[in-house]
Amino acid sequence: MGFFTDTSVCIGCKACEVACKEWNAVPEDGLELTGMSYDNTQGLGADTWRHVAFIEQRKPVGNAEAGERGDLRWLMASDVCKHCTHAACLDVCPTGALVRTEFGTVVVQEDVCNGCGYCVPACPYGVIDQRKEDGRVWKCTLCYDRIGAGQEPACAKACPTDSIQYGPLDELRERAAARVEALHDIGVADARLYGDDPDDGVGGDGAFFLLLDEPEVYGLPPDPVVTTRDLPAMWRHAGVAAAALLGGVAAVFAAHGRTGGRR
Ligand code: SF4
Ligand code: SF4
Repeated sequence: MGFFTDTSVCIGCKACEVACKEWNAVPEDGLELTGMSYDNTQGLGADTWRHVAFIEQRKPVGNAEAGERGDLRWLMASDVCKHCTHAACLDVCPTGALVRTEFGTVVVQEDVCNGCGYCVPACPYGVIDQRKEDGRVWKCTLCYDRIGAGQEPACAKACPTDSIQYGPLDELRERAAARVEALHDIGVADARLYGDDPDDGVGGDGAFFLLLDEPEVYGLPPDPVVTTRDLPAMWRHAGVAAAALLGGVAAVFAAHGRTGGRR
C-alpha cells in the first residue's frame, strides 16, 4: 500500500499538514514566518510529517504560452516519507525500532528507538529526524493505525482535491501513468512521475509523485540510491581481509612451531 501525490492538482491549502498533526498528535514545530514564501513549514522534520512546498517560478502556468496569463506560477507539492522499498533507515537501525509493516510501509516503534540517530544520515531523502527533547526519531507512519482499521491515512482523507491518493501501489502506478498521459495530451509536457519505478536506486518508493518540473526544483534528489547498497560488498571485502590476516598469523605461528623457536 502507498501514496500517489499528484502535485498538478495541489492547491496548497495545507489541510494534509493539519490532518497529519491532528491525527498523530504531532507537537507544534516552532512555526516561523519566513517572510519570503507561504511555505512557513519549510521542510519535513521530527514534528512535521507532511510538508507542503511552495515553489515560486518565473514560468507560464500549465500549458499556457509565455505572456498569455502572466509568467509567474506556483508549484505546490505535499512531501512525505517515501516508504522506500529498500529503506536504508531500516537497514542501519541497531535496535529493530524501524520495521517493515504488513502493508509494506516503514514505521518507527517509538518505545524501541534508543535515539542513536544512525538512521538520520542513512536516509537518501533527508526525511527521518530526531526530536530535540529526547533524541528519538519520528516520521510519517502512513497512518499505520488507520490503515490497519481499513481507513485511508488522515492526509489523503483531508485533501480536498485528491492530490494525495492512497491504495495498492500497482493500482496507483497505473492511475499515475494515465494522468501523466492526459497532461501530456493537453500540452503539459513537463509532467513526469518520480519514485514510481521499482528498478530505481531505492527499489521504488511507497510514496511517489507526479511532478511538473525537475525533482531538484522540489528539493528532491534526482537519482536517489539506497545508502546501504555497498554494505554487503564492504563486509565481504572486510571478511576476506580478516581471513587473509588470520591466515598470515597462523602461518607465522606454524613456522615458529616447526623451528621450535630456534634461530
Ligand atoms: S524516505 Fe528515508 S525515512 Fe522514509 S523509508 Fe526511505 S530511508 Fe526511511
Ligand atoms: S490537502 Fe491536498 S490540496 Fe491541500 S495542500 Fe495538501 S495535497 Fe495540496
